[in-house]
Amino acid sequence: MAYLFNDFTGWKKYCEEHNLKLYEPVLEYEIDQKGRTADQIWKGLSDAFTVMKEAIKTGLEEDMSSRSGMVNNGAKKVAQNKISVLSPEFQQLISRALAAKEVNSCMGRVVAAPTAGASGILPGTLFTLQEVHQLDERVILEGLLIGAGIALIIEQKASLAGAVGGCQAETGSAAAMASGAIVYALGGDIDQIFNAVAITIQCMLGLVCDPVAGLVEVPCIVRNASAAAISYSSAQIALSNVSAVIPVDECVEAMGEVGQSMETRYKETAMGGLAATKTGQTIAKSILIQDIEMLPDEDEN
Ligand code: SF4
Repeated sequence: MAYLFNDFTGWKKYCEEHNLKLYEPVLEYEIDQKGRTADQIWKGLSDAFTVMKEAIKTGLEEDMSSRSGMVNNGAKKVAQNKISVLSPEFQQLISRALAAKEVNSCMGRVVAAPTAGASGILPGTLFTLQEVHQLDERVILEGLLIGAGIALIIEQKASLAGAVGGCQAETGSAAAMASGAIVYALGGDIDQIFNAVAITIQCMLGLVCDPVAGLVEVPCIVRNASAAAISYSSAQIALSNVSAVIPVDECVEAMGEVGQSMETRYKETAMGGLAATKTGQTIAKSILIQDIEMLPDEDEN
């Protein structure tokens, strides 16, 4: 019977008792739950990583503008900007996270990891990590499995859906998955990996879901970029053995508690936060008028 990802303490204990690497119980779980072979799981992971990289390419090379006008080739503008605020690698990280997410907002093909709203974070972070550190794809795929284990626990103890737990559940969970994968891929031990997850959750805690006009565009796209940056800052802190102080399982509990107590208007209803601003409301109204104008004329039928 595979480990069921009840909490981080149990995951670590299971690994120690069975002398397993951190990704191996997730592989067992996938084999068990999906009734597939290990080879099939690895192939599925490799295919998913390919789709992630394709989404980045699409977002950086093709026209990414949405009907609402809120998405307008932002990733390309960042990638082509002559000003690097920190380093060329940081600029690439940000442009890639934006690129994959813009593809989602423009109805293209992405991997929902863990959701479509957060689909730029793992592609941006892991592709950049692989490139900067010249890592084998196998290490990235193992990192993806660890990310899946992290998401399984968050799903049980809190939520992965903006409509249930706010944006902390979507972009926050994706950032936690990414920071755990980064620390693993750079040789961190289990405590460092889980510490990175705890730090990331602390940084993303309380983030509300407030998409303007109910479209997964603003602020979703820029939040994918900031979540990617937070996953790297968390990994850097955790790999330096700076403690999150609050253990990871307690951070996840806090995330669940915050999500539960969040008012409904901050849970994908487009009634609060940025969606409720004057500009947000004007955009929502103009999109509604566009939609009405596009409806077929009854006299023509
Ligand atoms: S704001 Fe809401 S819809 Fe947008 S990414 Fe966050 S959770 Fe998803």
